Amino acid sequence: MTINRNLIAGSWVESTDVIRNINPSNTDDVVGEYASATAEQVEQAVAAARAAFPAWSRSPIQNRADMLEKIGNEILERRDELGRLLAREEGKPLADGVGEATRAGHIFKFFGGEVLRLQGEKLASTRPGVEIEITREPIGVVGLITPWNFPIAIPAWKIAPALAYGNCVVLKPAELTPGCAWALADIISRAGIPEGVFNLVMGSGSKIGSALIGGVDALSFTGSVPTGRKVAAQAVERMIKFQLEMGGKNPLVVLDDADLETAVSIAVNGAYFQTGQRCTASSRMVVTQGIHDRFVDAVADRISKLVVGDALKPETQMGPAVDQRQLDQNLKYVAIGQEEGARKVFGGDRLNRDTPGFYMSPCLFAETTNDMRVNREEIFGPVGTVIRVKDYEEALHVANDTQFGLSAGIATTSLKHANHFRANSQAGMVMVNLPTAGVDYHVPFGGRKASSYGPREQGRYAAEFYTTVKTSYTLP
Ligand code: NAD
Repeated sequence: MTINRNLIAGSWVESTDVIRNINPSNTDDVVGEYASATAEQVEQAVAAARAAFPAWSRSPIQNRADMLEKIGNEILERRDELGRLLAREEGKPLADGVGEATRAGHIFKFFGGEVLRLQGEKLASTRPGVEIEITREPIGVVGLITPWNFPIAIPAWKIAPALAYGNCVVLKPAELTPGCAWALADIISRAGIPEGVFNLVMGSGSKIGSALIGGVDALSFTGSVPTGRKVAAQAVERMIKFQLEMGGKNPLVVLDDADLETAVSIAVNGAYFQTGQRCTASSRMVVTQGIHDRFVDAVADRISKLVVGDALKPETQMGPAVDQRQLDQNLKYVAIGQEEGARKVFGGDRLNRDTPGFYMSPCLFAETTNDMRVNREEIFGPVGTVIRVKDYEEALHVANDTQFGLSAGIATTSLKHANHFRANSQAGMVMVNLPTAGVDYHVPFGGRKASSYGPREQGRYAAEFYTTVKTSYTLP
């Protein structure tokens, strides 16, 4: 099997250690072997990016726009193949994999346009005759650390704005899913990007993360809260600019006046699709008492019919957990929920399929309280809980009573409650009659409290992180 190498200073570089990329739907299937970068190679990648920065940051904006457009086009042309690779290495159903690859293509094309739209400001001074100009400049070398659950979209939504605004990049993708990152690096390297502007270093975060953070000018991280905390500590030590996108415990409020069919569809989508492995998954369903029993029965009925299986089979609606560790964590929380006194309405069992994979049935808990661990801690699996509440006011209180604040949803036909919830939810993104997960690529993405730190990602708000502001005063 050929070993896919790291991209450093425009060359594909070998290493001694190798990551075996295993298909979670069929652990007999090795997706590929990927070279693990050493800390020294990470330093070389950062040095290459630094050497490339002066020319890249001053390169004509039309060149940058054309390159991003070209990258986006190739991703879109190859979306089926890339989506298949994604489904094979991560375990989300094929259609979702193709959807994510499509999104990655659109992101590059969007930022191809944004290259031309970066704005500054000109203001009058309080001092006579003086002119003030406010401009945005690239930061320098940006380190990107990404998780496994959106292995092409998250690298894309960090790489594209970084390059668009004239920064150089060193990407360290999650070690569980190097395939999509490598494919993306291959596309970028053939799009005419000068050597050193974009570098790929694969491998374990605990082994090479520190070398990356130790050398870059800014760091954008997406992953779990505990890792985010470590990364932040090192970034603060060096006083570099950083941005963190982390976990969620997203509530979906369901009110008595909700359309039951809509509420059940968005709950099942939000809590169980992509095996619950989305930072925006609806993990807590906060339901008022008048609709509670009908809602619980209908969700249980719907998830009992979800087809769980190999991500590459067209009939599959829910794939496996990404690996043994994640599956063990899911099953551990199923046990914790029962120990805490929650009523298990459905699922939470290990499943066997034709191929060896990390399968389990979707699990629904009812009669839970918001202080239980299953409602406080991010599980990151197909485990949904229902919290019964008296009325809208209690629902809003419970929805906000969490350390996280990424996404929050409400199912209601009341304009009054929908508007009140939009205004008073302590989350970065609010969904009315829509699943908590599933967002557009051209608008800001991010949360509050322990879910996020620093400026928003995506859309034109990405410029906030990937540029630095300069205020200049001139007396002509
Ligand atoms: P993780 O925190 O285990 O790993 C994330 C990345 O950090 C990986 O690339 C990993 O190699 C790296 N890493 C690990 N230790 C490191 C260290 N000491 N220094 C530097 N880097 C290190 O997260 P994961 O399991 O890959 O992803 C799941 C988590 O990501 C969940 O908590 C989920 O909610 C979160 N997530 C958040 C968003 C968002 O935008 N808010 C999106 C997707 C996933």
